[in-house]
Amino acid sequence: MKRRTLLTGGHVLTMDPALGTLPTGDVLLEGERIAAVGTSLPVVDAEVVDVRGRIVAPGMIDTHRHTWQSLVRGLCTDWTLADYFYGVRLAVSPAYTAEDVHLGNRLGAVEALDAGVTTILDFSHCNNTPDHADAAVTGLRDAGIRAAFCYGFFESNPLAPPHFAAHEQRVADFERIADAYFAADGGLLTLGVALTELGVVPFSHTRAEIEVARRREALIATHMACVWGMPSGFDELATAGLLGPDQVHIHCNTLTDAQWTVLAASGAKVSISVETELNMGMGRPVFGACAAHGVLPTLSCDVVSLNSGDLVSQIRQGLGFTRWAETEALNLRGRDPRVVTTTAAQALEWSTVNAADALGMSERIGSISPGKQADLIVVGGPGIGQHPALDAAGTMVFQTTPADVRDVLVAGRFVKRDGRLIDHDLPDLLGRADAAAARILRRVQDAVPSFPGTPEDGFELNAALATANLRA
Ligand SMILES: [Zn+2]
Repeated sequence: MKRRTLLTGGHVLTMDPALGTLPTGDVLLEGERIAAVGTSLPVVDAEVVDVRGRIVAPGMIDTHRHTWQSLVRGLCTDWTLADYFYGVRLAVSPAYTAEDVHLGNRLGAVEALDAGVTTILDFSHCNNTPDHADAAVTGLRDAGIRAAFCYGFFESNPLAPPHFAAHEQRVADFERIADAYFAADGGLLTLGVALTELGVVPFSHTRAEIEVARRREALIATHMACVWGMPSGFDELATAGLLGPDQVHIHCNTLTDAQWTVLAASGAKVSISVETELNMGMGRPVFGACAAHGVLPTLSCDVVSLNSGDLVSQIRQGLGFTRWAETEALNLRGRDPRVVTTTAAQALEWSTVNAADALGMSERIGSISPGKQADLIVVGGPGIGQHPALDAAGTMVFQTTPADVRDVLVAGRFVKRDGRLIDHDLPDLLGRADAAAARILRRVQDAVPSFPGTPEDGFELNAALATANLRA
């Protein structure tokens, strides 16, 4: 008989419209699945976990994170998007060894789990060699997180001979990864691709990346329309008939209204990186465009090299921005809103049910529903922000820090329990991360003495070289 666990007496935010919210509810887990949700469930043969006074919610889902960058946390604190592009993508990324990618992905995934994020879309674009790609997958696997591993086809080092001489070799390496790690169904990791920058690389590359993804039934993630004054590649995709519901379009800040109409009609999904976009001058987070065109917003942490890896922070900033944007016109006419238009409970949908839909995982995750995978979090405990907890959704969105996420389960298994990570020696992991970061930055300084900076600052990777690299 499968192991049974009963979470009893919690304030259960199921995020399942048929079940709603249970102010005092039980959740029965059987093996890796949710077996039942209700009030005072008559269960006798289960491990009972008393969660009275705590909130039970679905594990949160991040729809875009460059997990490998967790070894350069905070590097881009006061950087522009251009600084990031030259500094991280073209200088730091080439300095990563395969071991760094493994450690970065493992630490970044552990960080996510610690904060109650049980699933991530890992936008993995530091695959400088086949070893790097292997390390990215095994780093996620060793963390024990659920993830869509999205293989990036990027070339990252314009100053060194590329490991992959031709784009076809990168595509072949993706197929190698697909065969090596994703041939069987059922694990925590699923397969995806991360497209090379659209509109910058030859369209034949974009087409090849999408076609191989579809042949492999892989999720397709792409940065989209986030650099002002640069071609987005969106119209080429639309004209070629390559848009589809198997795609997550990230940022989308510069799309026109007409392009939004096309995007929505295609069924493609959208990921908003609120904190990155607001801090790097990328434009308005596209909650309004999503609402206008019937697209479900989802959220992403993007880069911990700049901002928080805590998805609750993204929800909080997204809700604040949304409420501000919805009332801006009234304010400018000297008026106050009479009602709040977007609620905290609606904001929680961004990182649960909406995000599950974006990743094509609605059947498995995103809500506390019988039959789904038991990816759950329990929030509460001794933190000041958790007392009193007068509104469960409000407590989740406005008061919860990773320290308040007391229990985290992935597929029915505790990965964090009573505030402590189960499978990881965190002090050891953090010590190794500090040492790895020092080594990476030393290698960057050796290769690029003017780091960080842009070509205008004398950064030695000049714009022409960088562009040539992206076109290669
Ligand atoms: Zn990104």
